[in-house]
Amino acid sequence: MSRKKDLEHLSCTDCSIYNCKSRSKEFPGFCLTTKDNDEHSIADDIEEIKHYLQGDEQDAVVARASAQVEGLFYGKLTRVEEIIEFANRIGAKKIGIATCAGLIEEAKIFAEILTAKGFEYYSAICKVGSVDKTEIGILEEHKIRPGTHESMCNPILQARILNYQKTDLNVVIGLCVGHDSLFIKYSDALVTTLVTKDRITGHNPVAALYTAHSYYNRLHQKND
Ligand code: SF4
Repeated sequence: MSRKKDLEHLSCTDCSIYNCKSRSKEFPGFCLTTKDNDEHSIADDIEEIKHYLQGDEQDAVVARASAQVEGLFYGKLTRVEEIIEFANRIGAKKIGIATCAGLIEEAKIFAEILTAKGFEYYSAICKVGSVDKTEIGILEEHKIRPGTHESMCNPILQARILNYQKTDLNVVIGLCVGHDSLFIKYSDALVTTLVTKDRITGHNPVAALYTAHSYYNRLHQKND
């Protein structure tokens, strides 16, 4: 635990006890679960669970379905299979696929799997609309290949297309950092991620964290 911070600024990433998980130890003094929050704006939220209890309302259904998939298939299913289990448990019939152009072949495979499992699907690639990057003020020199037509990623249009198609659950396949944020912002349906883009690690971003004390120790270098 960091000793450089005062109590007010300690949070879960400063903890090494994690008593919230299984209640087999003591909560640390700064714990968000137990500290006296009477004066705090989140005081009413600490023990608030009604969102997770109210019948078939979406939050309750999703909370239960997620926990079932975690508990029943822990360490047994791939994420592809977990998404299928989750979709079935929330009653999703039509799946939206928001894919990166760089992962279109993988998106096609996922679409085949959805069909085999009895789902409808509709997909939208990130370059849909084919608008050149310069049309939204991106400088020519900020293109990957300056001087060529280079379509912008269009996550808002991706979301609108899937909204129009009335998909029940949208699955992100490799959208860029930030483009994924816009897609999630504009998606009507719930969003889950199958692939998180990381061009350097073969779409396995946690590899940088696993190796942050060795190969990627540059990540710990302070900014000037
Ligand atoms: S909620 Fe409390 S026990 Fe759990 S990780 Fe955060 S500080 Fe630690």
